[in-house]
Amino acid sequence: MSKRDFYEVLGVSQSADEKELKSAYRKLAMANHPDRNPDDEAAAERFREATEAYDVLKDPQKRAAYDRMGHAAFDQAAGGGFGGGGFGGGGFGGGGFSDIFDQMFSEFSRGSRGGQPDRAGNDLRYDMNVSLEEAFSGVQRDITVTVPVTCDGCDGSGSSEGSQPQNCGTCGGSGRVRAQQGFFAVERTCHTCHGMGQVITNPCKSCGGDGRVQQSKVLSVSVPAGVDTGTRIRLSGKGEAGVRGGAAGDLYIFISVDQHPILVRDGADIMTRIPLPMTTAALGGTIDVPTVEGKMARLTIEAGTQSGRRFRMRGKGMPVLRRNIRGDQIVEVQVETPTNLSKKQKDLLKAFGEAGDTNPETDSFLKRVRRIWADGD
Ligand SMILES: [Zn+2]
Ligand SMILES: [Zn+2]
Repeated sequence: MSKRDFYEVLGVSQSADEKELKSAYRKLAMANHPDRNPDDEAAAERFREATEAYDVLKDPQKRAAYDRMGHAAFDQAAGGGFGGGGFGGGGFGGGGFSDIFDQMFSEFSRGSRGGQPDRAGNDLRYDMNVSLEEAFSGVQRDITVTVPVTCDGCDGSGSSEGSQPQNCGTCGGSGRVRAQQGFFAVERTCHTCHGMGQVITNPCKSCGGDGRVQQSKVLSVSVPAGVDTGTRIRLSGKGEAGVRGGAAGDLYIFISVDQHPILVRDGADIMTRIPLPMTTAALGGTIDVPTVEGKMARLTIEAGTQSGRRFRMRGKGMPVLRRNIRGDQIVEVQVETPTNLSKKQKDLLKAFGEAGDTNPETDSFLKRVRRIWADGD
């Protein structure tokens, strides 16, 4: 039997947003719910189909995988177990469908824990870019995140005022169902109530029974000095609200540090390449070096400095995260050959060249070349 397209099952377009998906699913789930349609196999099948489709499409990662690969995306996870038995007998097959999927796709999802209904909210990820200067000094940033928060209308219970959740008819309130799989009887999370043991019969108008609503909130994030690309900052309890009173997840800020046009970070050190006038290289002197602090630092150049030489400025690098130390700044000088010389400058340089041997490196190199050629004869 070929499987129907998930969008078709829910009767929505491929571009349907979260809200449309949810309302389409709720309509189908209400109409075909096994509790309302006892002994109606066709309704149970429609309910199962809609739940499966919604389970995938509501999750952006699973949805992306489905859009890319179709049902093939889940073949392995599903274990081919779909379809057997009626709904009440755990006809969702595969059983672990959701659980396996969560492990595969969502390293930040808590997944189910030891058969307990998973009421904890998911952890969330937020990507943040900071400049090198901000990584150096640390920065306070306000971010806006849209996350599910506990619904005010029902205080997170999911039931409209005055009504109580009912014991789930499928599992009798245990949240678990037994199903035959080959020779074995296995216990699985009840799919009607998602392991809660209770079903909402009179859902809250604000949240549709989920106990949570999407809300934008502004959070102030304190980025400490010394962060690097890959640093994660955890905001405990700022992830998704838990389901019906479950613990909230955490929000993880993933830091990326932007490249700086002049300063190149290497761990705690900063590398800089600086042009050095030929005269300063020959005579010695000082140059000003830009630092990550946004100020110039004075660097002493010894007479006779060659191009490519590296100078280390201790303690002028990046701070080390949560430690009171700093790396170094390493300055590589590139001696610049003068261009656009005036007649006077040319004459001076000519006279300088004729005044005597000032390039020991060049001379010894030429001597070596002559020696190699003489040996080769
Ligand atoms: Zn509510
Ligand atoms: Zn149940």
